[in-house]
Amino acid sequence: AKAEGRRCYHFYTSEMDAALQERMELDQAMRQALERNEFHLVYQPRVDLVSGCVLSLEALVRWRHPQWGMISPGRFIPLAEETGFILALGPRILRQACEQIRAWKARGIPTVPVAVNLSAREFQQPDIIERILAALNNTGLDACDLEIEITESAAMSSVEQTIRILTDLNGHGVRVSIDDFGTAYSSLNYLKRLPVHAIKIDQSFVSDMKVDPANHPEDAAIIRAIIGLGETLGMKVIAEGIENTVQRDFLLDHGCLQGQGYLFSRPVPAEAVEQLLVNAKTP
Ligand code: C2E
Ligand code: CA
Ligand code: CA
Ligand code: CA
Repeated sequence: AKAEGRRCYHFYTSEMDAALQERMELDQAMRQALERNEFHLVYQPRVDLVSGCVLSLEALVRWRHPQWGMISPGRFIPLAEETGFILALGPRILRQACEQIRAWKARGIPTVPVAVNLSAREFQQPDIIERILAALNNTGLDACDLEIEITESAAMSSVEQTIRILTDLNGHGVRVSIDDFGTAYSSLNYLKRLPVHAIKIDQSFVSDMKVDPANHPEDAAIIRAIIGLGETLGMKVIAEGIENTVQRDFLLDHGCLQGQGYLFSRPVPAEAVEQLLVNAKTP
């Protein structure tokens, strides 16, 4: 038994080594990728669920590695957040989004606001407000051209600081949405004090509505509760991950009027979204 235990232990450490090795490789590659401009943004429309009008776009980062191909942000953003690399990548994402809006405007393309995701670590930087305002200033944009998304868990990790930052951003006219709503444990008392434009229902709740919402009464109840909360607090409610009309109709029936998802559009490169902006009905 002892020998076996030791073997197991040995096996376990080599697994850990492999995982650590992979993380170090990925971290190294990310730093190179920034210099080599391997990161770019794609954009997903947020639409009015009744009319289908494009209301805004969410910018999502993509990494195309020359050998490994596409690496999903779900893999590298959490690592970038842990190692601090996000503090180098984040500003580039913000700048790239602002420059894209400016380019569209310069060409007379009718733009909608673009929402940029800020990770918890970026959001906690003492100069975050200055950085956002500088990004707008440097590209000559208005505050209403840009929106910010922070996750519920990031917003709630240091609530008094969040209230200060959001109040300040709000004062400058920059709208903030709470992402992945329903996955953390927000105190409603705090939520009430946050000057938040919108809450985004986490897609885990929406994904179970795909076939038969009646079979998922708990998720349905949570969705209804979030919609009610948004109404009460005067915040817009946006559903994520809408892939079919069953989900859309369930949401509409319960008073959720805005959403994103593959049903309307996948996240697409700037050139493709441009076509959408030119052709699509905007309000
Ligand atoms: P998120 O902010 O919650 O973004 C929504 C994710 O859902 C995106 O995945 C999007 O492509 C995906 N999605 C959209 N519609 C559907 C749908 O109908 N069905 C399904 N199954 N998925 C859908 P993505 O682009 O892989 O991003 C994953 C996460 O990585 C994001 O979640 C966000 O937390 C993070 N992320 C992505 N881009 C950035 C960025 O520029 N900065 C930061 N800090 N984080 C980012
Ligand atoms: Ca988001
Ligand atoms: Ca989300
Ligand atoms: Ca998410």
